[in-house]
Amino acid sequence: MERAKLGAREACRQSRSGSDSTLVTPGASIRNATLPGQRHGPKPRHRPAGGFRFRIQTAGRVNGAITQPDFLIANPTTPMTTYHAYAAQSAGGLLEPFTYDVGDLAPEEVEVQVSHCGICHSDLSMLDNEWGMSRFPLVLGHEVIGTVTALGAQAKGLKVGQKVGVGWSASSCLACHECLSGHHQLCSSNQGTIVGRHGGFADRIRVQWAWARPLPEGLDPAKAGPLLCGGITVFSPFLVHGISSTARVGIIGIGGLGHMALQFARHWGCEVHAFTTSESKEAEARQLGAHYVHNTKRDGALKGIAGRLNLIISTINVPQDIPGLLDTLAPRGVLHVVGAVLKPLEVPAFGLITGQKSLAGSPTGSPTAIDLLLEFCARHHIAPTTELFPMSKVNDALEHLRAGKARYRLVLQN
Ligand SMILES: [Zn+2]
Ligand SMILES: [Zn+2]
Repeated sequence: MERAKLGAREACRQSRSGSDSTLVTPGASIRNATLPGQRHGPKPRHRPAGGFRFRIQTAGRVNGAITQPDFLIANPTTPMTTYHAYAAQSAGGLLEPFTYDVGDLAPEEVEVQVSHCGICHSDLSMLDNEWGMSRFPLVLGHEVIGTVTALGAQAKGLKVGQKVGVGWSASSCLACHECLSGHHQLCSSNQGTIVGRHGGFADRIRVQWAWARPLPEGLDPAKAGPLLCGGITVFSPFLVHGISSTARVGIIGIGGLGHMALQFARHWGCEVHAFTTSESKEAEARQLGAHYVHNTKRDGALKGIAGRLNLIISTINVPQDIPGLLDTLAPRGVLHVVGAVLKPLEVPAFGLITGQKSLAGSPTGSPTAIDLLLEFCARHHIAPTTELFPMSKVNDALEHLRAGKARYRLVLQN
């Protein structure tokens, strides 16, 4: 879940440490802890007695021949039980080396060896416990790229050795109406990768098989991470609203999300309009795919395109001229919000009624939506603009992001 720019403009907080540089929590199972606001911890999950996957075949008859009992070891790969990560011990604190025990691999889980992990603004929000749901020690990171190293007994659709990506979600129930109709991101049991569990600023991570998505050939693992959260957040609106290639699309904000949205809109075939308040970004917006750039600080910028756009995706988190933006929409147009502006939006009823317009929003996307995005990016050679940091420099990278200097997404490399 991308929370665009949320907290990014806050002054840098004094980092708190006061802990040993290496912290070991033998036997600590994060799944057994209780989240703030929860009366009880997360639902206990069935776990097999061991981490191996065995299937026992008894003696029987196959095509008339007697078969001998044997053991079929479907997955000979043994998952690691100790993971090495970087964790914050308290809200706003520095990330420190952290080792934790993950226990047995659950039947639906896969283990992924992390090669890269993007940093999202939501990581900063969780680090600062802005949403009141962070649990410490906390391993951030939910734009993971890596290789499958072990499969649980009921993990499907993946192979050991396969390259995959993991985003905001680590699991969903796979049984509710939303999951069964392909909207897993809306599942009430959807669990965030860094919510009540540890994320990808680590050597390994475990997630439910459905949320580890195969990485197509042609995507650079060092650049693909940001697609898994920030990318799908701005790609989903094209799917949700069935946007055609002849549509005219506006993107508000040219940053971590907007710079990807501009590329998606251009390669989707749309007429692309970028909205910015920064003159310095106008040329870059055109390079990223904008046919037109509108500086909303200039008077009349919105009036010049009244009634033109079919979709606007707003990626920023500051109050906007909602009546003015609704006026730029063509009849039946949609203003789609993905930037987590905390102040309520002021929406004039007649701005919606006249022209039958809509105001919408969405979080990330389903596993199949992520697949479509990855395939789309591989086909059109789309990649986020990234800056690479070694995993060991995670604190420098977070500070870079907090200072608003990221151009445009940061990626940690193991
Ligand atoms: Zn995110
Ligand atoms: Zn569900």
